[in-house]
Amino acid sequence: MRLILLGPPGAGKGTQAARVCDAHGLVHLSTGDLLRAAVGAGTDLGKEAKAFMDAGNLVPDTLVLALVRERLEQPDAAAGFLLDGFPRNVSQAEALAADLGDRGVEKVIHMKLEDEEIVQRLLARGREDDTEAVIRNRLEVYSNETAPLIAHFDGQGLLVTIDAQGSMDEVFDRIAGVLSDSNAGASA
Ligand code: AMP
Repeated sequence: MRLILLGPPGAGKGTQAARVCDAHGLVHLSTGDLLRAAVGAGTDLGKEAKAFMDAGNLVPDTLVLALVRERLEQPDAAAGFLLDGFPRNVSQAEALAADLGDRGVEKVIHMKLEDEEIVQRLLARGREDDTEAVIRNRLEVYSNETAPLIAHFDGQGLLVTIDAQGSMDEVFDRIAGVLSDSNAGASA
């Protein structure tokens, strides 16, 4: 399966992505995790990315695409992957589609959550980039740059929206339902 998990910060993408990947033997590709690892390791890419991340802005496409390409080229990704936090704007989606060619993404799972719930969850999470001002900026970036992907993927017939409210198990069951309803694995 080749999947994208789309949704606002705080929707629980990382947690759900890990569970889906465990259940289906997929490579979990989180651009946020890759970027944080690059920052932690002090690579040139990490140094360039850090200020954007600290402000809650998107890291430039060229940097993110380099990380994604490097990971997708590894042999284990051929068996299937789930993209978490990528693409984050239409130009990243177009670059991904061009890279994947015929073996494109089969399904985009959109985890929908209200703004108020997002802010509460992010404040509770308390990550370094989860201060209130940065959260507000990340929400704005999401609605301006990332949310247009909802219509973009819907237009391609790939989008399934699920309610991201509720317990981790409830949300996982909704995602599992979407994946078993479809034959997303049949052409893998
Ligand atoms: P996340 O863990 O997905 O919330 O990402 C944390 C931060 O990393 C974001 O606020 C962005 O600064 C950056 N980031 C993660 N993924 C992307 C992406 N696909 N494009 C640009 N920036 C990204």
